[in-house]
Amino acid sequence: MDLFEYQARDLFEKHGVPVLGGVVAEDPATAKAAAQQLGTPVVVVKAQVKTGGRGKAGGVKIAKSPEEAEAKAAEILGMDIKGHTVHRVMIAAGADIAEEYYFSLLLDRANRNYLAMCSVEGGVEIEQLAVERPEALARVAVDPNVGIDEAKAKEIVEAARFDAETGAKVAPVLQKLWDVYREEDATLVEVNPLVKTGAGDIVALDGKVTLDENAEFRHEDHAALVDAKDEDPLEAKAKALDLNYVKLDGEVGIIGNGAGLVMSTLDVVAYAGEEHGVKPANFLDIGGGASAEVMANGLSVILGDEQVRAVFVNVFGGITACDAVANGIVGALEKLGESENKPLVVRLDGNNVEEGRAILEKANHPLVTLADTMDGGAAQVAALAANGK
Ligand code: GDP
Ligand code: MG
Repeated sequence: MDLFEYQARDLFEKHGVPVLGGVVAEDPATAKAAAQQLGTPVVVVKAQVKTGGRGKAGGVKIAKSPEEAEAKAAEILGMDIKGHTVHRVMIAAGADIAEEYYFSLLLDRANRNYLAMCSVEGGVEIEQLAVERPEALARVAVDPNVGIDEAKAKEIVEAARFDAETGAKVAPVLQKLWDVYREEDATLVEVNPLVKTGAGDIVALDGKVTLDENAEFRHEDHAALVDAKDEDPLEAKAKALDLNYVKLDGEVGIIGNGAGLVMSTLDVVAYAGEEHGVKPANFLDIGGGASAEVMANGLSVILGDEQVRAVFVNVFGGITACDAVANGIVGALEKLGESENKPLVVRLDGNNVEEGRAILEKANHPLVTLADTMDGGAAQVAALAANGK
């Protein structure tokens, strides 16, 4: 789960990372009151959207009075930044920036490790820096079992070529950012810019944090960070039904059992779909031992996606027997009734396949086609989805 900047700011504060005051506002009047409350001569009005480059897109504006903060908030609220509508702004105490640095800590899957990246040249041009002068962005491996201790923090600031005095001030902040990463079960903690103020203090001015949803059970407080306005309604529904669902941008709904099979199904549907100009609409793994009810829930989520034109059910019966899946499909279609008109292609194989196919043949539902193979099913469903376009 990606966090908004203001949520990252709060987590930073909780773990002792130096941050400036920040208050969230959803309308200009509240923004004005927030600026008054902060009481600093300068405030920064910052769009709260889960995408980078807000500054460049006009989503970060300086205001020198509460009235100006109100006016700037009115400009930024409702703005579209890379497809994200701004529903709130953070009114932040203005910083007197002397220098901007960059720091991030992330999961390095390929190396089964963590990776810290750091540069004395932070700010809004960091992506360009990474491409044009990669040597200016230090990369330091971080052992998950050790983390960023005093020695590692020193290694990072030296690799990033901080001068000794600044490095000595930055290093303890990096250790605190490690605490955020470790204690909150994050997979990304990025600070850009990490600044040195005119007074020589180190402050995290912008934060990006991604939390590991697999660790949710350890963090009851993280549930409160989910933003209903920002969540895809289908993903929210699937989550409430405890389904492994990811919405994608296509026309062919996919249901399968087992993540590996579902991913292969996405591949064959994407391949078959090329000819027809259609793509997979989602990932949905109903898991092993899925009941008829799970199948019905899965179908109802996928059919609720307006973009979906046809659905491919691809199940290899193991613990989940094919007859249970077939009953699930028949039951779901009964429940959905006349209103449902999207075709389903079903490929069953494995445990109790004969029984499963017999159930579907007997039901003889006009929307259901049985496929013999995965590739054949993919071709059929792609053609059906293209027809329905
Ligand atoms: P981003 O564009 O989404 O990364 O948003 P940031 O919060 O990083 O802000 C972008 C840039 O705005 C920063 O790199 C700073 O140069 C500038 N900025 C942000 N906050 C302040 C502030 O308090 N004072 C000053 N002077 N500049 C700021
Ligand atoms: Mg930034």
